[in-house]
Amino acid sequence: MNITIFGTGYVGLVQAAVFAEAGYNVTCVDIDADKVRALRSGQIPIYEPGLERLVRENGTAERLNFTTDASEGIARSSVQFIAVGTPPDEDGSADLKHVLAVANEIATYMEEHRIVVVKSTVPVGTSDKVRATIAEKLKERGREDLTFDVASNPEFLKEGSAVADCTKPDRIVIGTDHADTERVLRELYAPFNRNHEKIIAMDVRSAELTKYAANCMLATKISFMNEMANLAERLEADIEKVRLGIGSDPRIGYHFIYPGVGYGGSCFPKDVRAMIRLAEKNGFEPMVLDAVERRNEQQKHVLFAKIHEYFQGEIAGRTFALWGLAFKPNTNDMREAPSRVLMEALWQAGASVRAYDPEAMDECRRIYGERAALKLCASQEEALEGADALVVVTEWKPFRAPNFEVMKRMLKNQVIFDGRNIYDAAVSARHGLRVVSVGRPQRRKEIQ
Ligand code: NAD
Repeated sequence: MNITIFGTGYVGLVQAAVFAEAGYNVTCVDIDADKVRALRSGQIPIYEPGLERLVRENGTAERLNFTTDASEGIARSSVQFIAVGTPPDEDGSADLKHVLAVANEIATYMEEHRIVVVKSTVPVGTSDKVRATIAEKLKERGREDLTFDVASNPEFLKEGSAVADCTKPDRIVIGTDHADTERVLRELYAPFNRNHEKIIAMDVRSAELTKYAANCMLATKISFMNEMANLAERLEADIEKVRLGIGSDPRIGYHFIYPGVGYGGSCFPKDVRAMIRLAEKNGFEPMVLDAVERRNEQQKHVLFAKIHEYFQGEIAGRTFALWGLAFKPNTNDMREAPSRVLMEALWQAGASVRAYDPEAMDECRRIYGERAALKLCASQEEALEGADALVVVTEWKPFRAPNFEVMKRMLKNQVIFDGRNIYDAAVSARHGLRVVSVGRPQRRKEIQ
């Protein structure tokens, strides 16, 4: 079976590479000519473990092709995936212009039956819009004889483990109202459905809502834990102990209940906002999601507030070592990253930053360019040189067991602001370093 995928971002490129690895002939279409040129020469624009090898090997085997020519991709495959971006528009709703542009292209060039599969995260009702866009264009072309179907197949991969998630998905949601389309998509996903049944077939609208509901649920867990962490600080309780205490309940579980400096990335923030707007447009007040969003925005400022308090407001002229720029480990993605909120607050207050991230240095340079208040360092140790304090924003593995002796020697003030609670305060204290973390008591109440 031939497959065409529009959009070679985190979703499109990874899914394309994984389909090609399973033996399909995959054509990737992207409007970004520079990206297509780079991909053709084996350069991968994103960091994703395992992806480079898949793209290189399947490219060499000619199972994976890249083009800017939509007509080529539309002619080649009966199944057309839409995996382009759905960024927020001004009011936070998902902007569908890229999705509908692809729908229009497909209708412009198709000459026989096509199944259009929407993989981008889109509001409920988008597949109907895609269907209407295609029908309108076919009418304009005088080709109403051509048949097509539109299905929803949301993607649940996680950046940082995207290849593994696509290779062994924990579920494959197929949203379609037609048995023929379901049969084709079941066949397409059969290589990923061998171990046990993972396909969950449903109607189109339920599939669209499933994706938003999943991300909103995960964002809710994080905001809830951050709310508990902030409260724990005021009550002089330790959120990490609370985390273990509640995670042991199988109804709650240990996953996704880490307190920290808020969620970022290209999905949770925009999907929660899009869900809020979708609810409002449908005359419904999304009380829970409003709170999830507000807590998260506030949480991204928590580290700065702690730094401000520690230095009693005297931040101007100081230098901070910052470990971790990506919104989470194992990615170079800095979209809506908490590190950006922190850096911008520090600059605003007159401080400068010496930053290090194992993968996101180029991305940081692309976003902020060269500036006096930002030094991008070649190693985590180099970032410490001459710094007043260390701030940890992303829990990359190499940050977890650092050389505390070196840290102590290099920092002007022996303090670490730990936005991910990766350090044990007692261990750091033995090395003469104070750790300011999230949701953990700084001092114990005297037992009366
Ligand atoms: P991305 O921004 O990384 O990539 C989108 C790509 O689409 C870009 O390369 C862009 O040039 C291309 N594009 C735009 N218009 C096009 C057109 N008309 N024709 C062809 N290509 C076009 O986006 P992403 O992170 O891969 O996300 C894609 C979708 O999947 C979004 O809806 C997102 O919400 C969803 N999603 C993302 C993730 C994730 O972790 N990133 C996970 C699940 C779902």
